[in-house]
Amino acid sequence: MEIRRPRGTQDILPGAVEAWQALEAVVRDVFERANYEEIRTPIFEHTELFERGVGETTDIVSKEMYTFLDRGGRSVTLRPEGTAGVVRAYVENKLYGQGSLTKVYYLGPMFRYEKPQRGRLRQLHQVGVEVLGSELPAIDAEVIELGYSLLKKVGMRDMTVELNSVGCSVCRPRHREKMIQRLLPHKEELCADCQVRLEKNPLRLFDCKNESCQQVLREANVPYIVDELCDDCRKHLDAVEGYLRAMDVPYRLEKSLVRGLDYYTRTAWEITVPNFSTVLGGGRYNRLVAELGGPDVPGIGFAAGMDRVLAVLEAQGVSLGERQPLDAFICVADETAEHTAMAVLTSLRRLGVRCDRDYQGRSLKSQFKQADRLGAKFAVVIGESELAKGAATVKHLATGEQRDVPFGQLADRIREGGWA
Ligand SMILES: [Zn+2]
Ligand SMILES: [Zn+2]
Repeated sequence: MEIRRPRGTQDILPGAVEAWQALEAVVRDVFERANYEEIRTPIFEHTELFERGVGETTDIVSKEMYTFLDRGGRSVTLRPEGTAGVVRAYVENKLYGQGSLTKVYYLGPMFRYEKPQRGRLRQLHQVGVEVLGSELPAIDAEVIELGYSLLKKVGMRDMTVELNSVGCSVCRPRHREKMIQRLLPHKEELCADCQVRLEKNPLRLFDCKNESCQQVLREANVPYIVDELCDDCRKHLDAVEGYLRAMDVPYRLEKSLVRGLDYYTRTAWEITVPNFSTVLGGGRYNRLVAELGGPDVPGIGFAAGMDRVLAVLEAQGVSLGERQPLDAFICVADETAEHTAMAVLTSLRRLGVRCDRDYQGRSLKSQFKQADRLGAKFAVVIGESELAKGAATVKHLATGEQRDVPFGQLADRIREGGWA
C-alpha cells in the first residue's frame, strides 16, 4: 500500500522550493545587515521548557504540542515555537556577558497538533529574531522595523503594524483584578476556554475568537490594559511610537491586541494583511529569561510564519525566486566520446558552469530535446568527429547558431553567454 505524508505536513518540491530559498536569502540578508546572527537550537526539547517558557494556559501548550516519551521514559516535545529554545540556549551557554546584547535570528520547522479542519499545518516553518539584554524602547522599534522591512523587501503589500502594550508586573495585576471583578458576575456567559483564562490569565480573554465573549467584555465595560498602564509602561510605549514615526514605519494602536503567549510584557505587535490576519507577531518578554533559570535579562522578539508569508505573496501576485536554467547540456553523440564527455562535464562544473548530461541512453535527437526542456543555453555536442578535432560542437539553443569550440576554451565561451 502507498504510504502518504502525515496530515498537516507538506512536500516542498522543486519548482516550489525556489521561493523558499529566495525568502530565506532575503531573511539572512536583512537580518545580518542589522547585525543579527543565526542561532540553531534542537528541534525537540524537554517538555518542561515549553510549559514554563510558553505558558501552560496557552493553546499551544495545553492543546497543540507534539509530546511523547522517548525510549528512556523522558517527556520530550517537538518545538512548537522558537523563543523558548533560544532563551534556553542563551541561559545554558551563558551568552549573557557583562552588559552584553545578544541579537540572534532563527529559521526552521515548528510543530503544532492543529485541528486538521482548520487547514493549518502541523509542521509549519517560522523565521524569527530575539534580542536579549536591552529594555530600551529603541530596540523595540528596531525589532518592529526589522520585521516590517523583511516583509516589504520580499514584496508584501497592504501591511498594517498593529501595536499595543500589555503592561508589566506593576500595572498588569491591577488591571487583572479589575477584569476579574467585572467579569466574575458574567462568568457563565463566557466560553469554556475563557472561564479558565479568567482564573489564570484574564488578559487573554481579549484574544478569544468567540464574538459572544467579546460582547461580554464590552458589556461589562472591561478596560483595555493600554488605558491602565503605569507611568513607566506609558513612557515606554510613547517612546516606541516616537521612534516608529521617526523611522517612517506606519502603525496603528490596537488596544485589544494581547498575543497568545503568557510571558509578554509591555510592547506587543502584529503585522496583518487583509484576508490573512496575522503574518508576523512579536512581543517583549522581560521575565522569561529569569523564568527559565537565567539572570534578570529583558528580551524582545518576533516570529513570522514562512508558509503564510509565501501564501500571502502568492495571493498578491508576487513571484519570488525562479528555477535557474542550465548553462549547458552535454550531448554525447556516440559511445567513443563517453569518457571525454564525462571529463568535460566535470571540468565545466569545477569551473563554475551549471551543466548536466543524459543518463538514460537517449538518442542524440532526444538529448537535444532534453537540453531544450531544461532551458539550457548551450548544447555541447561531443562525438567521434569532435574528438578528432579536439573541439566540441556548441549550439546556442535560442538562436540555433553553431560553432566549434576547443575543449580547453569551453568554460570561458559558455560563461561569456553569447557569441560576441
Ligand atoms: Zn507597567
Ligand atoms: Zn471565549
